[in-house]
Formats: sequence, C-alpha cells, structure tokens
Amino acid sequence: MKTNLVLFGKPGAGKGTQAAFLKETYQLKHISTGDVFRANISQNTSLGQLAKSYMDKGDLVPDSVTIQMLEAEVNENQAAAGFIFDGFPRTTAQAEALDAFLKSKSMEISATIALEADEDVLTARLLERGKESGRPDDQDETKIRNRFQEYNLKTAPLEAFYKAQNKFYAVNGIGEISEITKRIAAIISGL
Ligand code: AMP
Repeated sequence: MKTNLVLFGKPGAGKGTQAAFLKETYQLKHISTGDVFRANISQNTSLGQLAKSYMDKGDLVPDSVTIQMLEAEVNENQAAAGFIFDGFPRTTAQAEALDAFLKSKSMEISATIALEADEDVLTARLLERGKESGRPDDQDETKIRNRFQEYNLKTAPLEAFYKAQNKFYAVNGIGEISEITKRIAAIISGL
C-alpha cells in the first residue's frame, strides 16, 4: 500500500519545509501545486499565464485547472512509493476529486497533517520569505491576508471532511523546524 500524505496549513505554515524532510525519509514524491504553478509561470506557459492572474491577487486558481494539473503530475509518477500532496486539496471539490482519482488507481489518502500557526506569526514569516524569494504574493500584506481568507473560507472545511474519514491530524506548527518534524514523524509511525 502506498503512503499518500496531504499537508495542510495556511500560507507560511511550513508545508514546503516539512515536505522536504518527509520526501527524503519516506521516499515519497512531493507534489506542490504552488511550485508547479510557479514553474509554469517562469516558463510562460498558457497554464502559467492563467494561474498568474489568480496567484498575483492571492486568490485560488480554479478547481478544474488545478485538479487536471494534479492528476497529470500523479500520472507522470506512477512508480513512486507514495505522494506528499502539498497545498492540494484546498477546496472540497478538489478533495472529492482527489479521493475519486486515487480510488480509480486503487490508492487512497493515508493521512492529512495540518500544520497550525497563528496568522500574525505567519504574516511576519511570509513577509520575511518574500524579501528573499521575491515572490510577489509574499511581499504584500493585503495579498497575504486574502490568502488567509481563501484558506479560512475554502480550505478549513476540509478538516471536517477528513475527520469524517478518521484521517485528520493537527500538529503545532510553531517551534524549531526539527521539533515539528518529530511531531509529524510520530503521527506517521502511528499510522
Ligand atoms: P502555495 O505555494 O501553496 O502558497 O500556493 C501559491 C498560490 O498558488 C496560491 O495562493 C494559489 O493562488 C495557487 N494554488 C496553489 N495550490 C492551489 C490549489 N490546490 N488550488 C487553487 N490554487 C492553488
């Protein structure tokens, strides 16, 4: 059985950082929808152009586009021992599509892990990250607040969605990176 993990968390919660550890430790394929969109933007593909118009405002990219892209990424990595979905699903429609898609491949989500942190702490982290990375959506507090709002409105309901499947685990996302890694590893070893 493949291990398929979903990493949840508001922007800046540390999903990418922790995914890097999980990927190495458990030999999983890391799929970050945000990274795939950014790669498309830098290559100026039509998908990139479309995604950019939403990302620049801190809005979610439409479900149909995002789901299709995610499925293509999974299909291209069939041999993987499992997947880390980072930043996907972010809406109920995406979560339902993911369940159906994995089922069609005789796979399922093993666990969803939410990294929890306060919005003020995250805003400070993102503004700091934006200075280094130059990411436009990390450099403007209005865009950051809008991303939190998108999360609270559209992504937060997924907690109940996965709790109903007994697959939801919350982790305190504040602290040393290595401490947070240990908290996640403890959950995975208990699966
Ligand atoms: P991230 O790198 O995960 O913070 O994502 C950056 C931006 O990419 C988000 O603010 C959205 O505009 C877009 N994005 C990433 N993943 C998704 C998704 N699953 N659904 C819709 N939009 C997404």
